[in-house]
Amino acid sequence: MEFIHNLTIKKIHQGLINREFSAVHIVNEFFNHIEKKDESIGAYLYLAKDDAYKQASNVDAVLENGENVSLLAGIPLAIKDNILIKNLPATAASKILENYNASYDAGVISKLKKAGAIFLGKTNMDEFAMGSSTENSAFKTTKNPYDLEKVPGGSSGGSAAAVGANMAAVALGSDTGGSIRQPASFCGVVGLKPTYGAVSRSGLMSMASSLDQIGPLAKTVEDAAVLFQVIGGKDEFDSTSVEILYGDEITNPKPDEIKKLKIGLPKEYFIEGLDDRTKTEINLAIQKLKSLGFEIRDISLPHTKYALSAYYIIMTAEVSSNLARYDGVRYARIANNNSGRIVGTDNLLDIYKKQKGMGFGHEARRRIILGTYVLSAGYYDAYYAKAQKVRNLIKQDFDNSFKEVDVVLTPVSPTTAFKIGEKTNDPLQMYLSDIFTIPVNLAGLPGISIPVRKFGGFKDLPVGFQLIGKHFKEADILGIGQLYEQLDSKNY
Ligand code: GLN
Repeated sequence: MEFIHNLTIKKIHQGLINREFSAVHIVNEFFNHIEKKDESIGAYLYLAKDDAYKQASNVDAVLENGENVSLLAGIPLAIKDNILIKNLPATAASKILENYNASYDAGVISKLKKAGAIFLGKTNMDEFAMGSSTENSAFKTTKNPYDLEKVPGGSSGGSAAAVGANMAAVALGSDTGGSIRQPASFCGVVGLKPTYGAVSRSGLMSMASSLDQIGPLAKTVEDAAVLFQVIGGKDEFDSTSVEILYGDEITNPKPDEIKKLKIGLPKEYFIEGLDDRTKTEINLAIQKLKSLGFEIRDISLPHTKYALSAYYIIMTAEVSSNLARYDGVRYARIANNNSGRIVGTDNLLDIYKKQKGMGFGHEARRRIILGTYVLSAGYYDAYYAKAQKVRNLIKQDFDNSFKEVDVVLTPVSPTTAFKIGEKTNDPLQMYLSDIFTIPVNLAGLPGISIPVRKFGGFKDLPVGFQLIGKHFKEADILGIGQLYEQLDSKNY
């Protein structure tokens, strides 16, 4: 029999309801596998063994009673450490939250708990989701499961590596500028960034609130669709979440309908700087889609070149206000002696300075300072207000192209996974790895990274291609993705 940790959601579900194995057995097998693998990969910051076994016994009790369970019951998930699970640590890989335990469940976690899903643990990430390699974690560097000398991407690198190495069936990440899609591409898994408003952000530690979204990482598009369907829709604790029901069209796309969708290739995304291997793999994906009968057209998104600059103004501005709440007094406390207190100071400002100085890493500090600068009175119009106008132009570019095509196809990242340490001293180089994913967040659109070759099918480092859909049309990109992965991969 195949190992449970290699199976997709539907296969685990089948095994569970046919009583081939119990939920406790599933959890056991995953933890054993994690024990073997995670020492070298380092995807998890924390394992939630007690809770996971408890959740699993609950699922088994329901099955024992002969009751029906949902598709996600007993399915083991890895959760990025900036998403709150009540009573478990939630550090966002920052020293400033080192001792913090979440006091409530994130909106997505409540929905998943109701569905009977199991949380194996919390995964490593770049501190407060700022980065593209997971090297900005205050605690450790996660390795790429395909090559331990390479980064897994970021900031959801722990979640992507966990799924890529079969240490979780599926995972949750968050994406502000590419943090689900880029690590998915680097680790050979599927990563979906939903439309802004499609998934509740309640209980997600805010990085840049107008850009952040939670989304699934999975071995297959189908698994991503199943997970998305459960976490999607309105949540009373996030007023920006939208009243929408994602139904059957998400998990059971109709091939005839899907094949009518037109796909656009924006010339601004196929540029110099795209490495050869990425180019070859993306072309292979395009060929496969053509062989499925899709009409593919050239399009233009003329303001693409301004996206990165606009993002690093808007995002840092939002970061600087969102991170103001971490003063080291609320949420957790860092002490410089064993008494749990900062010594050598007696005024509040000094405490804040010391706490923030000890608690935040370089990248967080850089962004807080930049963001404070772009929002300051004399510069607000020149930077922040202007960046918002550019954001609008980028959105209009997409609106215009969606008059011609239904879906846009692009690379996810200009390169495959890079070497650990290669870009840590050059933030601008690091920022460039998100050049193809950032416009999607600025426009609030759904985007998915799909491995060009099926899960486990890469001999060399994996490459993903990106499909971008219209607002709330996750069904289109998930539909194309599901057709794509049904293609006989032997021919390629
Ligand atoms: N890598 C990008 C950044 O550093 C995106 C991060 C994200 O999506 N959370 O901002």
